[in-house]
Amino acid sequence: MPAQYDAIIVGGGHNGLTTAAYLGRSGLKTLVLERRDVLGGAAVSEHPWPGYTVSTLSYVLSLMPPEVIRELELHRHGLTLYPLAADYYVPFPDGSHLLLTKNPGQAKAEIGKFSRKDADAWPVFSEYLAAIARIVRPLLLMTPPAVGAKSPADLLELARFAWQLKGLDVKSTSDFVKVMTLSVAELLDEWFESSQVKAARCVSGAIGTYGGPYTPGTAYVLLHHYIGEVDGQMAEWAFVRGGTGAVSQAIAEDAREHGAEIRTGARVGRILVEDSRSVGVALVDGTELRSRAVVSNAHPKITFCELVDSSQLPSDFVRAIERYKSRSGTVKVNLALGELPRFDGLESEDSMTAARSFIQLCDSMEYLEHAFDDAKYGQPSAAPYSDGVIPTVVDDSLAPSGKQLMSCFTQYVPASWSQAPHRDELEAYADRVVDGYSRFAPNLKSAVEHRQVLGPYDMEQEYGLVGGNIMHGDLTLDQLFSWRPVAGYADYRTPIKNLYLCGSGTHPGGGISGINGRNASREILKDLKRRR
Ligand SMILES: Cc1cc2nc3c(=O)[nH]c(=O)nc-3n(C[C@H](O)[C@H](O)[C@H](O)COP(=O)(O)OP(=O)(O)OC[C@H]3O[C@@H](n4cnc5c(N)ncnc54)[C@H](O)[C@@H]3O)c2cc1C
Repeated sequence: MPAQYDAIIVGGGHNGLTTAAYLGRSGLKTLVLERRDVLGGAAVSEHPWPGYTVSTLSYVLSLMPPEVIRELELHRHGLTLYPLAADYYVPFPDGSHLLLTKNPGQAKAEIGKFSRKDADAWPVFSEYLAAIARIVRPLLLMTPPAVGAKSPADLLELARFAWQLKGLDVKSTSDFVKVMTLSVAELLDEWFESSQVKAARCVSGAIGTYGGPYTPGTAYVLLHHYIGEVDGQMAEWAFVRGGTGAVSQAIAEDAREHGAEIRTGARVGRILVEDSRSVGVALVDGTELRSRAVVSNAHPKITFCELVDSSQLPSDFVRAIERYKSRSGTVKVNLALGELPRFDGLESEDSMTAARSFIQLCDSMEYLEHAFDDAKYGQPSAAPYSDGVIPTVVDDSLAPSGKQLMSCFTQYVPASWSQAPHRDELEAYADRVVDGYSRFAPNLKSAVEHRQVLGPYDMEQEYGLVGGNIMHGDLTLDQLFSWRPVAGYADYRTPIKNLYLCGSGTHPGGGISGINGRNASREILKDLKRRR
C-alpha cells in the first residue's frame, strides 16, 4: 500500500505538535494521532469542575526558547504570557519569610535579613549560573553527537560540538563539571551560609527528580530550571493565559495552518515494521495508516516496549531501554479556592507579590531531604514539599468570578506508587499538603471548594508518563545529551529505519520547550530530502 502521509506522529503532546508544525512548514503531509480526547499531553488545560480551566500537570513556562516561539508564530496563534512577580515566597516556621524578586536591591535587602554574606553572594551566584547556562543553551538546540562513534560523519559532528565549547576556559570548565555532577546541596553549601536562602534555592534541584537535595546530579536539575527565559529575561517563568494547554493549542494551530491533520481519541496500538523499516501505524481499532516516516512523541519505554515488537530491535538496545530510569515521587494537587490564601505577616502589597510567585513549602534543605527519605524507604512524605502557584491572580479566564485556582506541584511518594492507584493514601497526603500551607495561610483549608490529586499511577495510566516521571525519564548524567535515551541513538533516529523519537525522552529532556520536536524535525527532514 502506498504511503498516505509523509510523516505520522504518535502523540499530540506539545513536542509531537511542534514536530508536525516544523514538518508542515517544510511542505510535508503530516498526521498527528493523539490517544486522549484532548491535545497537549503534560502541557494540557482541562475542566475538572464547571467553570474552571486547570493546568492539570505542568503549570508555568520558561524553557521554550525564543526560536520556537518566533518560528511557529505562537504569539500570533494566541500565546499570552504573564511573568511571575517573584522567584520565591518561602514562609518559615518562626514567622519570618523570604520573598525574592528579580529586583537586585529588593533581593539584597530580603536576603540580608538572614545573612549579609549571602546577600552579597546572591547576585554573584546568579551570574555564575547564568554563565554556565549561556554555555549549555546552544547545546540544547543541537543534535547530540554520537560520542565514541568513529565514522567520518560522526567525527565531524564531534568536531562541531567541540567548536561549540570553544568559549570554555579552565575556570568555566571546572564550574561546568561541578554543576553536572554535584548535588544541589553541595553546590549551595559552597556559596551560602543561611539555611533560609538554601531552602529557597534547593527546590529547583529536586523538582521532578526522584532524589533529594543531597542526591548527586541534582545541581544539574537546578541548572535545567535556570536555562529558560521569558521575553529575554533569563531564568524567568510565566503563567500562560488559558493554562499550559494554551501553548499546545497555539502549536497545534500552527501545525494545522501548515497542513497537518490532527486526530484525538486515536490510540496507536502498533508501529508497523516491514523489512526493518517502519511503514506506518495500526490504531487499536485495527485501522492501518501508511507513511514514509513514523515519529513517536510517546515515552521511549512505550515506543519500544509496547508499540514496537521487540524482536525487531537489537537486544542490547532493548536492554538499554528496559534499564532507562523513569521514576517519580511527584503528586499534583490542584485546588479550587473560594478566596485567596492570606499569608501571615505579609503587608498587602507583598501579599499580592507572593501570590504571583512560587509559594514554597520547604523551610530548609533538611526538610526536603527528609521528605525524600520517607519515599526512599517506602512511605509518602510525612511533611511534603510543595511548589504552589495561583494563576488566577493574573488570568481571569480560568475560574468563575471571585474564585481562585492554586496549583501545587508536590513531592514525594514512593516511586512504586506508579504501579497502583493508592487513592486513599494520596488523599491523606494531599491533606498534609493543604495542612502544611495552612500553617502559614490559616484561611486556606476552609477556602478549598474542589480538589484534584494526581499521583504517579494517574500520570502513567492517563498521560503516558511512565513511572509518573514528568520528564519522560530521569535527568541524570547517564541519560542526558548523547546518552538520551540510549547511547548511539541520541540523534532522534532509532534502530528501525524511518522511525524517529521527538518526545522528552530525547535530548534535551523534559519541560515545555518544543526543542525536542524542533531538533527531531530537522533530522527527519534531512533524511526525507535525501530519499526523495
Ligand atoms: C505534574 C507535572 C508538572 C510539570 N510542570 C512543568 C512546568 O510547570 N513547566 C514545564 O516546562 N514543564 C513541566 N512539566 C514537564 C512537561 O510538562 C513535560 O516534560 C512536557 O510537557 C512533555 O511533553 P512531550 O510532548 O515531550 O510529551 P507528552 O506531553 O507526554 O506527550 C506525549 C503524548 O503522547 C501520547 N501518546 C502516548 N502513547 C500514545 C499512543 N499509543 N497513541 C497515541 N498517542 C499516544 C500521550 O497521550 C501524550 O499526549 C511538568 C510535568 C508534570 C507531569
